[in-house]
Amino acid sequence: MNGGTTREAAERLDADDPLAAFRGRFVATDPELIYLDGNSLGRLPAATPELLRGVVEQGWGDGLVRSWESWIDWGSRLGDRLAEHVLGARPGEVVISDSTSVNLFKLAAAALDAAPDRGTVLMDAEDFPTNRYVLQGLAEQRGLRLRRLRSDLDGGLSLDVLRSALDGDVALVVLSLVSYRSGALLDMAAVNELARAAGARVLWDLSHAAGAVPVELAATGADLAAGCTYKYLNGGPGSPAFLYVRRELQAALRQPIWGWYGQRDMFHMGPDYDPVPSIERFLVSTPPLLSLAAIDPALALVEEAGVERIRAKGLLLGQLVTDLAEEWLTPLGFRPASPARPEQRGSHVSLHHPDAWRICQTLASDARVVCDYRVPDRLRIGPSPLYTGFTEVWDAVHRLREVVARGAHLSRPAELARVT
Ligand SMILES: *Cc1c(COP(=O)(O)O)cnc(C)c1O
Repeated sequence: MNGGTTREAAERLDADDPLAAFRGRFVATDPELIYLDGNSLGRLPAATPELLRGVVEQGWGDGLVRSWESWIDWGSRLGDRLAEHVLGARPGEVVISDSTSVNLFKLAAAALDAAPDRGTVLMDAEDFPTNRYVLQGLAEQRGLRLRRLRSDLDGGLSLDVLRSALDGDVALVVLSLVSYRSGALLDMAAVNELARAAGARVLWDLSHAAGAVPVELAATGADLAAGCTYKYLNGGPGSPAFLYVRRELQAALRQPIWGWYGQRDMFHMGPDYDPVPSIERFLVSTPPLLSLAAIDPALALVEEAGVERIRAKGLLLGQLVTDLAEEWLTPLGFRPASPARPEQRGSHVSLHHPDAWRICQTLASDARVVCDYRVPDRLRIGPSPLYTGFTEVWDAVHRLREVVARGAHLSRPAELARVT
């Protein structure tokens, strides 16, 4: 990279980083720990514990059931903020609800019900497991054909493969904007355009994209999307997910779980399900309020930083990782397992090494660098731009080189742990 890969060059990048001060807005109890797994679970924002204490003590403790007066629409209010600042969607198109898996199920089922004369669903054969399983289940229950598009483990899905699979029988295409393993970034506008021409709907999974790369759901005419709030959005473990439905489609789509939160005048408790025409028809039930509340301070940080600046820093962090990896790690048996250019990726980078699992464990225990392992033989490095410094990344790759050069990982058991 320009200026070379010296530690001084990384320090200069930190000195020029307009987002540097955000690091202090997150909890970091261990100054030695380098955390490069913000794409699995984002760090704890410093404001979150205090906010949650207020919700617990005043909201729950004092207010009791009366607090639902204000809590009831938090999912919609946070959804509107996500729409505006993170997802490029319009007001009333996003709501927070359930988990990503459940939202994928709800939206896919709704889209399939709306296309009864089509019998094929397309997905990326290498997509995140829950996405594949949800679609397998839906296809089996409905007697649909599920086509798994061949895609490159490291390079991602090619538009040509998608184009040649799109025919008049395809009802739905489900894709991740950023691949969980390689970080490969798809062209949302191009995919939406291809699908539209074939009369198919696209359901986007934005789990590894939201808060890391600019997303333009409205401008690209996207139909449907869902994604996590606990990755780059730092909402906390298991914080509820978001879902998006393009305004013009909302009234025509009906989701499969007919809960009271989707009901018109829900407290009239009418005899039959009659969903509101708006985005709230995709809600099901009482939200996990504490987890929902934790999204508020986390999202405030992303709003203040701005996704454009987060992306600009993410590109530089990714470049630094790949430059250092090429120089130091290739001689140790690593090879890139992500698209080469930062613009072709989200904010994480994967490296292939036959001993990736043992290296990943040793790196955490002996060198205090947390990244993660993904099958098969991938080390996934996710420097979340909002709180990760360039010098930290330099030090992390340096420690990685030391661990592998010493062979420190070779005495580890090769069996995978329960959680990787
Ligand atoms: C992280 C992730 C999920 C997680 O789903 P949950 O329902 O929150 O467990 C789903 N899909 C993708 C693509 C992911 O990266």
